[in-house]
Amino acid sequence: MEKETGGTSPGIAPAGTARGISGGAQDKAAPAGAAVSPAVSKAWARARAGLRSEFGGEAFRSWIGPLTLETVRGGTAVLSIKSRFLRDWVSSNYREQILRHFKAELPAIEAVDLVARAGAPGADASPAAEAGSGADGRAQDPDQALTRVDGAADDDADSTPSLPLEPRYTFDSFVVGKPNELACAAAQRVAEADDIPFNPLFIHGGVGLGKTHLMHAMAWRIRERAPWRRVAYISAEKFMYRFIRALRFKDTLAFKEQFRSVDVLMIDDVQFMSDKGATQEEFFHTFNALMDERRQVVVSADKSPSDLSGIEERLVSRFNWGLVADVHPTTYELRLSILQTKAARMPCRFPDKVLEFVAHKIQSNVRELEGALNRMAAHASLIGRDLTIEMAADVLKDMLRANERHITIEEIQRSVCAHFNIKMTDMSSARRARAVARPRQIAMYLAKMLTSRSLPEIGRKFGNRDHTTVMHAVRKIEELRAIDPSINEDVEILIRTLRG
Ligand code: ADP
Ligand code: MG
Repeated sequence: MEKETGGTSPGIAPAGTARGISGGAQDKAAPAGAAVSPAVSKAWARARAGLRSEFGGEAFRSWIGPLTLETVRGGTAVLSIKSRFLRDWVSSNYREQILRHFKAELPAIEAVDLVARAGAPGADASPAAEAGSGADGRAQDPDQALTRVDGAADDDADSTPSLPLEPRYTFDSFVVGKPNELACAAAQRVAEADDIPFNPLFIHGGVGLGKTHLMHAMAWRIRERAPWRRVAYISAEKFMYRFIRALRFKDTLAFKEQFRSVDVLMIDDVQFMSDKGATQEEFFHTFNALMDERRQVVVSADKSPSDLSGIEERLVSRFNWGLVADVHPTTYELRLSILQTKAARMPCRFPDKVLEFVAHKIQSNVRELEGALNRMAAHASLIGRDLTIEMAADVLKDMLRANERHITIEEIQRSVCAHFNIKMTDMSSARRARAVARPRQIAMYLAKMLTSRSLPEIGRKFGNRDHTTVMHAVRKIEELRAIDPSINEDVEILIRTLRG
C-alpha cells in the first residue's frame, strides 16, 4: 500500500477509463453565442460550488474554475477550456466528479464533454465523438457502484442513503506513514473482517489528512470482498439535511428504515452535527439500533469524541466505546512519499529536489500538497520543461507564505508583552488598567488573526476568559486600527515580528 502502483483496486472503476476523452475536436461544436437557460446555468453554478468544496480552492482554481459551460445537448453538457492540455487533464482527472455534481443538480445531465476552445484552429484532429456522451459517464457513476439500499427507483439521487464514492479514494492510493498508520490499519481491519472488530470505529484528525479517503477506501474494499453487505457512506451534513427534509414531508419512517437497514454505516464529519437536537437524537437512535444488531458503524470528525463541542454526552460516550484512531499531522517523510506517489501519476516529471522542497515547505495537509502539484504541473506544461526549485517557489509563492510559520498563542503573548513592556502574567490577570488591558486585547486579536484557534480556546489561554470577551477584543481592536494610527502601527509591527 505504501507505494501505489497507479491503478485502483481490481473490481473498482479503473482510473484509466476516464482517459478515453482525448480528442474532442478543437471546437467543432463551437456554438456561436450558444446560451444556456438560466435554470441550467444556475444548476451549473451550484455544481461548481459543490466541486469547489470537494476539491478545495487550489484545485478548483487550477482546473474547474476555468471551465465554461457552452451548451447542453441531448443530456450532454459541453464544457470548454482554453487548451488541449487542460482539457485532457481535467477530463482524465475530474470529469466523473463534474458529471456527478452536475447531475446531482440537474438529473437530465447524462454526460460531460470537454472541448478545447482557444488552441490553434484545426490542430486537434480526432473526432469529438470519442469523448462519448452517456456511456462513459454512466459506467463510472460511482453512485451505481455503491450498493443501494433503497427500493424506490427514481432519479432523485437522494433516494439512496449513500453518497457516491470517489473512485480515486482506495487503499491502494493511500500512502501510509507514521502519522496515519493506526487509522489506516484500523480501517483495513474493519473493511476486511468478517465480524465486527470494534464498534464504532471513530477516525479523527485535521482537515485534508485523509479521513474521507479512508472511509471511501473501506467502502470500496467491503464492496469488493463482500458485495452482499450493504454499505452507506454519508456526510453528517447530508444526513441532517435529509432528516430535516423527511420531517418536513412527514416521511421519517422511510428515513429510519433506510438507514437502519444497512450493514455498514459511515458518517463523515460528525462535528457538523453539533447543536442540532432532533437530528442528533435520530442519529443516536439509528446508531444504537445498528450497534444493537451488530452492524458496523464508522464515524469521522475533526476532533476526538471528548473534544467535540455541541454533541450530546451520551453520543460522545458511545463514540468512545469502540476504537478511536487519530490521523496526525503529516511528517516530512510522509509528505515526500505522498508527493512522489502522486507525481508519478502525472503527465509531467518533477525533479526530486523540487518534491523535497515542496515537502519541506508545505506542511499543512495533503490537500494542499495536491494543490501544489497541480499548480506546478500546469506551469511545467506551459513552459514545456522540468521545473526548478526557483520556479516552484515562484509558482507556489502564496501557498508557501501561508505555510511559513506556525504561530502559537504563547508566542503572540510573549511578543505583545515584550512590545508593551508588561508581564506575561498580565495576559491572564484580571487587571483592567488600560496599560495592560489594551495589550491583552491586541494579543487576543492577533491570536484570532494569526492562529486557527477558536474563540473559546483563545479565551482559555487568557486566564479562562469567556469567548465573548475575546470577540469583543477582536472587534475593539479592529475598530481602533481603523481610527488610531498608533495602535495600527503597533499591531503591524507585531504581525511582522510574529510572521518572522
Ligand atoms: P479529510 O477528509 O481528512 O479532510 P481527505 O480524505 O478529503 O481529507 O483528503 C484530502 C486529499 O488528500 C484527498 O484528495 C486525499 O486523496 C488526499 N490524501 C490524504 N491523505 C492521503 C494519503 N495518506 N495518501 C494519499 N492521498 C491522501
Ligand atoms: Mg473529509
